[in-house]
Amino acid sequence: MRIDIATLFPEMCESVLNESIIGRARRRGHIELHCHQIRDYTLNRQKQVDDYPYGGGHGMIMQAQPIYDCCMDVIGQVCAAGHERPRVIFMTAAGAPLTEAKCRELARCGSLLLVCGHYEGVDERVIEALADEELSIGDYVLTGGELAALVVADSVFRLCPGVLSCPEGYEDESHYNGLLEYPQYSRPEEWNGRCVPEVLLSGHHANIERWRREQSLERTRLRRPDLYQEYLKKVNSENS
Ligand code: SAM
Repeated sequence: MRIDIATLFPEMCESVLNESIIGRARRRGHIELHCHQIRDYTLNRQKQVDDYPYGGGHGMIMQAQPIYDCCMDVIGQVCAAGHERPRVIFMTAAGAPLTEAKCRELARCGSLLLVCGHYEGVDERVIEALADEELSIGDYVLTGGELAALVVADSVFRLCPGVLSCPEGYEDESHYNGLLEYPQYSRPEEWNGRCVPEVLLSGHHANIERWRREQSLERTRLRRPDLYQEYLKKVNSENS
């Protein structure tokens, strides 16, 4: 899997994705990341990438031309390196919400190009010209698309073969099957007067599985009734 990020802050994206599990997987060649400076594609001497909004209003808007030229160059590089044409995703607060199901779908693509806006956003025409889709990481507004692109890259990369040491790991985790994960514990058995649930010390695998399943269902019902209702609908339609 290859992910490219078009941004005004390539070092910020590089540094985060050089750490920990994703950094190790990159160094081992399981995944590929390239960050590109949109400012390098400006046609003016000041390397200015933004201008005032037509119609007035606050702040500045990123202009279409440098973003377009940057993305077209990156698409050419990706194809020349033997990858399929990347799916182009603009990070926007108005995009479709990122979900674990969307991450799984994106992890099946050979390559993604994530485009980060800044200031008050991006000239709509370049989104119309290039975007396969727009994604939002939540119902709040960030100062730039970099943190959103990093969230997408991290959550997609971790699903790719070779990234997690135990690939089955993510199938138990929150959101994989529409539920939240059960509570987890490690040593010692007692900490500050709080004990690990007895069943987890029993060595009885069927009982442990049952307990985890019950905890997962109950936690989802209490904390995320929206997910719980969706899960029940899915199970009922599978059984009917
Ligand atoms: N004026 C825009 C609006 O109201 O939707 C917000 C612009 S925001 C200050 C600057 C950039 O941050 C956006 O172009 C986008 O790339 C990114 N951004 C902000 N919130 C985001 C979110 N929830 N998800 C993804 N990207 C976001």
